[in-house]
Amino acid sequence: MKQEFFIEAEKGLAFTVKKGQIITVIDVEGEQVVDFVVYREGDVSERIDPGVTMDALHSYMVKPGDIIYSNKYRPIMSIVEDKVGRHDFFNPACRPEMYELLYNKENHRSCYENLNDAFTQYGVPKPDQHYPFNLFMNTVVKDDGTMSVERPVSKPGDYIKLKAEMDLIVGASACPCSESACNGYVCTPIKIVVE
Ligand SMILES: [Zn+2]
Repeated sequence: MKQEFFIEAEKGLAFTVKKGQIITVIDVEGEQVVDFVVYREGDVSERIDPGVTMDALHSYMVKPGDIIYSNKYRPIMSIVEDKVGRHDFFNPACRPEMYELLYNKENHRSCYENLNDAFTQYGVPKPDQHYPFNLFMNTVVKDDGTMSVERPVSKPGDYIKLKAEMDLIVGASACPCSESACNGYVCTPIKIVVE
């Protein structure tokens, strides 16, 4: 059975998938980051963990065939296909306090709140922060240790295909940050197909 979800610009969504299903996340208009978080269905003490994934892969870049790990060092997803090749494991979800610190803006929409709102219907407790797999986010790390978030390299219609390695509750937020190059200064929608 094929399911399609459309996430409006700056909004979030949650849904469940079964082990073995393929999730295709499509950057409809290009240059749009998706904060992507998954929990194990039935035991939300297990979740995607970017730090563990980098530790296990010895890399902060992923390619088709790579495993994405949970906080318990078990495969939670894997990469099936990737049209973009630039994603981010470093940055936490944006949250209102980030917009206050970096942009001096109050009550800004955020991935943290989009994800919390979306996960409520599945009983996922609100965490102190979300540490997503930031799809299409182009964080460049330089030799001197500095990092810069640059425009995504994703073009309209580009996608990444992920396989669920366990039954999952999936949350996705179309990042609402228009203040930086993160989303190419314009927030746009995302499409997700599950099959
Ligand atoms: Zn965000």
